[in-house]
Amino acid sequence: PVPHRGSKELFERAQKVIPGGVMGQGRFAKPHPLYMTKAQGARMWDVDGNEYIDFHCAFGAVLLGHNDPRLRTVIDRTLDQHGVAFSAAHPLESELAERIIKHVPSAEKVIFCCTGSEATYHAIRRSRAHTGRNKILKFEGAYHGWHDYVQWSVHFDPAEAGSPEAPKPVQESAGMIRAAEEGLLTCGYSDTKTLRDIFAKHGADIAAVIVEPIYHNAGVVMPAPDFLSEIRRLCDDNKSVLIFDEVITGFRVGLGGAQAQCGITPDLTTMGKAFANGMPISAIAGKAEIMNGFAPLGKTFFSGTFYGHVLNVAVASGCIEILENDPPYEYLDSLGKRLKAGIQAAIDQTGVPATVGQHGSVWALYFTRRGLANYRDMASFAQTKEHPIHSSFQRWMLESGIYIHPHFIIRGYLNAAHTEADVDHLVDATRRYFIAHKEDLTEL
Ligand code: PMP
Repeated sequence: PVPHRGSKELFERAQKVIPGGVMGQGRFAKPHPLYMTKAQGARMWDVDGNEYIDFHCAFGAVLLGHNDPRLRTVIDRTLDQHGVAFSAAHPLESELAERIIKHVPSAEKVIFCCTGSEATYHAIRRSRAHTGRNKILKFEGAYHGWHDYVQWSVHFDPAEAGSPEAPKPVQESAGMIRAAEEGLLTCGYSDTKTLRDIFAKHGADIAAVIVEPIYHNAGVVMPAPDFLSEIRRLCDDNKSVLIFDEVITGFRVGLGGAQAQCGITPDLTTMGKAFANGMPISAIAGKAEIMNGFAPLGKTFFSGTFYGHVLNVAVASGCIEILENDPPYEYLDSLGKRLKAGIQAAIDQTGVPATVGQHGSVWALYFTRRGLANYRDMASFAQTKEHPIHSSFQRWMLESGIYIHPHFIIRGYLNAAHTEADVDHLVDATRRYFIAHKEDLTEL
């Protein structure tokens, strides 16, 4: 039997009509991607009928579990009572905005778009208009979406990199406007000293700092204790806008997001993913004074055919209502701690060079003993993006009935439909991998 024959055939068909066969590099896997045809709760099934426990959760968008029955009721009700999309004002928009304002400390006003990239784009553009300045400061390796405002990063590839002390920013995508480089400054995450130096030199030109308050695009990397408060102080002193990119953390770590946990309030917040349990909606929230600069009140253009899409708005509001009445956060954190303790025990038992990280429902596994404080620590990782250990680990997991995403860092999510037994299954498969591949797991 060929367990993935259906996926293989579908990929052959797709390559003829879809470039690379998939919707972008994030979906590609060797020798071919798996075609998932059903997801329910914590489980997914591929076209060949193989069942997986899903620890990818649609890049963290799925928080309650796939296809949550309570949200299906909301979807049915919305279709019965309203319809799909009118591109007109709708009463449910205020209900959703009120829920977000109730929970997210920085939110005085809120608007909706569809994806995280759109949210960061609009937040940055609004910051530039608000301050009349050009430069944005982001942190090395940070991902805030696909647009030219943010797709500069620091590569550690020796051929491209400059010196380790002064890594050279490079475009992450071909085809970006060259002038975009002038608009961007980069600094190491948690590198408070360099941050101060950059502000000393460029403070008067910095429109905004955009930062993930927990650096999930590097797995699970917590900010240094003084880092976020220092960004807040520097932004205040220099009248720069502070944007927290909570596209991953918003409503995933708790109703108030990471900002409620760390006690630092940004000026603008971008959110997406978890607050609609998989529907394509995102939000920009923040100080009324800044938010009111979006059109029609202000001059920062804001419009999109699907902005305020009724079905998305209804599901988002329904999702937050469930999170209010039946908050999964303690449960998710206990599952997360169980996962971390289990994998740590497997590392200790086998002595493999690995580190496990976890915050609430997000977890990461690195094949290095060092652990990570920032993206620069990932220099060796960036050079080993294609290291076979990651695909070998992923294949092992798939064969063990566990779905994780193919990536050079192993980052996963939990959702409220996961059970302790699901987590134990992941831990057990990981331990067995460590034992079977102990020889291959040399320090990366
Ligand atoms: N910001 C962060 C922190 C993200 O993790 C992502 C996506 N993973 C984005 C922005 C972009 O969101 P989207 O893929 O919905 O455009």
